[in-house]
Amino acid sequence: MRSTLTGLVLGTVLAFAGLAPPAAHGAAPPISLASRIAPPDRAVIERFEAAGMRDIRPHVLTPAELAQVEQALARLPALHRRVLDTHLRHLSFVDGVPGQGTALTSQVGDSARFDITLRASALHETLAHFLTTKERRLFEADASGHTVTIEADGADALTYLLLHEATHVLDMPMKLTERQGNAFGDGIWLAPMAQGRIPLAPGLAASPAAATRFRGAGPIAASHARTHYDALAQTPFVSFYATAAPGEDLAELMAWHVISRRHGHTLSIAVHDADGVLLERYQPMRFPAVEARLPLVERLLGQAEPGGAA
Ligand SMILES: [Zn+2]
Repeated sequence: MRSTLTGLVLGTVLAFAGLAPPAAHGAAPPISLASRIAPPDRAVIERFEAAGMRDIRPHVLTPAELAQVEQALARLPALHRRVLDTHLRHLSFVDGVPGQGTALTSQVGDSARFDITLRASALHETLAHFLTTKERRLFEADASGHTVTIEADGADALTYLLLHEATHVLDMPMKLTERQGNAFGDGIWLAPMAQGRIPLAPGLAASPAAATRFRGAGPIAASHARTHYDALAQTPFVSFYATAAPGEDLAELMAWHVISRRHGHTLSIAVHDADGVLLERYQPMRFPAVEARLPLVERLLGQAEPGGAA
């Protein structure tokens, strides 16, 4: 039953996403996504300003940055390139984003088109730096001196951001992860409440993995970091951020999967003591409940590739 449901859901996604059926032979169609690079709309700037960011301004890519973005776009899986070809209006970069606020995927009016806006300085960050900065905001220092570091084996932040945001662009027009009983969220997410965060299934909701700022909890004492990551290792989530909402769950799983399995980077979470001695290293892509979801992700990716499953 589950595989039938999976097939139905994924097939429907691609149909609604306006994706052409995969060609039987040959390479992916030529798509110049770089032509979508444009200054952000005033409405996009206003959304950053509404979030308290008063100094947002368009960033003009240098020739080297443009080449970097073109290369990253070209390297995306066929699924993401096709989704962006169909649904992306503008890819924009901005300066003046303080802290770690980084990416915004916004719908263009009521259309099925989207703008993706990225913090320009992320172009020059490794994925390890980017994710570590974000992750450390969950913790507060204590006498233990323990620290959390995300290791990403040379991967770049831009590729991760494009994968994550493009997965939202796949998901949002279809409301894929919002559908009850969908193959990704079945047994993980419950029906949304009238307001507030979408609830997790009871076993997950009670897990320390769900007791982070991403689900409204307070900061975690650094000495308790391992307790929370030990719990994460028992869940289907690749990151704490994936527990924020079903759409983030899919975007995180997809991005981590492509970067690790297709691009060959090892993604790890390391906890060190005050002397820099490694206490524990976690590899979320090897968590059993995460691995159990990967065939579904691969199937989704494969549908947009030449010779992919129907
Ligand atoms: Zn997201």
